[in-house]
Amino acid sequence: MATDLAKFAEENGVKYFMISFTDLFGGQRAKLVPTRAIAEMQRDGAGFAGFATWLDLTPAHPDMLAVPDPEAVIILPWNKEIAWVPANCVMEDEPVAQAPRNVLRRLIKEAAAEGLHVKTGIEAEFFLLTPAGDQVSDPYDIAAKPCYDQQAFMRRLDVIREISDHMLELGWNPYQNDHEDANGQWEMNWEFDDALNTADKHSFFKFMAKCVAEKHGYRATFMPKPIEGLTGNGCHAHISVWDAPGAAAKTNVFAGEGEGETGELGLSKRGKHFLGGIMKHASALAAITNPTVNSYKRINAPRTMSGATWAPNTVTWTGNNRTHMVRVPGPGRFELRLPDGAANPYLLQAVIIAAGLSGIQSEADPGKRYDIDMYAEGHKVRGAPKLPLNMLDALRAYDKDKGLKEAMGKEFSAAFLKMKHDEWNDYVSHFSAWEKANTLDI
Ligand SMILES: [Mg+2]
Repeated sequence: MATDLAKFAEENGVKYFMISFTDLFGGQRAKLVPTRAIAEMQRDGAGFAGFATWLDLTPAHPDMLAVPDPEAVIILPWNKEIAWVPANCVMEDEPVAQAPRNVLRRLIKEAAAEGLHVKTGIEAEFFLLTPAGDQVSDPYDIAAKPCYDQQAFMRRLDVIREISDHMLELGWNPYQNDHEDANGQWEMNWEFDDALNTADKHSFFKFMAKCVAEKHGYRATFMPKPIEGLTGNGCHAHISVWDAPGAAAKTNVFAGEGEGETGELGLSKRGKHFLGGIMKHASALAAITNPTVNSYKRINAPRTMSGATWAPNTVTWTGNNRTHMVRVPGPGRFELRLPDGAANPYLLQAVIIAAGLSGIQSEADPGKRYDIDMYAEGHKVRGAPKLPLNMLDALRAYDKDKGLKEAMGKEFSAAFLKMKHDEWNDYVSHFSAWEKANTLDI
């Protein structure tokens, strides 16, 4: 039985629902609906003019309805009279095919039809900046290697502790928090979950971190490279595949007897091929995992002040070594280190499933394992593709990858490529200070 939101409100003292959906650029859009209207909205959805958001819709399109998913409702821990509920976009009784949460739900269904249930954990790094967003909020956080800095941690304990308390209350099973590798940078980890739940939690985490930071007079940003010269915001994804969803999962399909170089690290045959799919589609899927102009200042970056970027630049995989695009830290799972903080939470999960499924179906080979320090010896690697150097290269790689485009959905891929090309064109028409500084006198 689906949760009755009106009843839920009555039982929990909820006065308003924030019905929220995520557009193609990862923006969260919402309407605040008083409880008296929620029964109707639960049935019919909240109406939006789709053209007003990034979904590739026109002003002539009919109303888009955001139908709340009642099982995913979350009471805001910092404002308990309001509940956030992610919604599925519908138009004229049909799901809007390019809407990110719909893309993910469709892929989860396709994987389930093959007996595969993807579970992921993500590491959504973020910075706490000043409200204007141009400086680290803590003026004393200036060490060259600030990672795990205990004293800097204590100066932002109020924010981090508050977010952690909220996750404990929500039952997300958070397990660690730390000051990350850049000045002003943080990471908070909670337990892995089914892909759709992780995507909803990822969305809510970004919303929550921003709200709590604002309350304390700071600005939380997940932008891939918000401060030049410092390590960027990654969003590493830890991936495993199971025999059933939720608590019914008993067997890790990625664990067990394998073969070759992946088998040595404890990945099963299907784990090997899933990884093979990620490797095969890597340059194209970067358009989704690294979706902004700024993303390419994190990957392919020169060495940062701390000595390492912690971001990949080449399509390689290895064992427990953080200098590659994929790390297999132990049996039965692997870590994709490519995604960054700009990745759309739903499309990130969707593209992992799309590439992995394609790998299993085509029995893709992940290629050679490189057990080297890529930052020191990367130049010795021959034959491994380099990651796209900028957003346009990534969009072109995505456009060329027919298999991935189809797996992500024709309508989605067409809408995504159109909107992102428009964004690229807008970016290149921008006259930058760099141009003036470097070419005025030529
Ligand atoms: Mg990290």
